[in-house]
Amino acid sequence: MYPKKTKKKGHVKQYKSGRICKKSGCQKKLSIYNSADYCYVHREYITMMG
Ligand SMILES: [Zn+2]
Repeated sequence: MYPKKTKKKGHVKQYKSGRICKKSGCQKKLSIYNSADYCYVHREYITMMG
């Protein structure tokens, strides 16, 4: 029995590199694995704001 999740090796979703957090004044670079427009700190902040 195989698990339902099929994980292709070497094929992880990536986003544009060199992106910067959208929060004004924040120069934090975003990971290519980060789908959000904000760094992890401000992503939580934005989520909290709704
Ligand atoms: Zn930020």
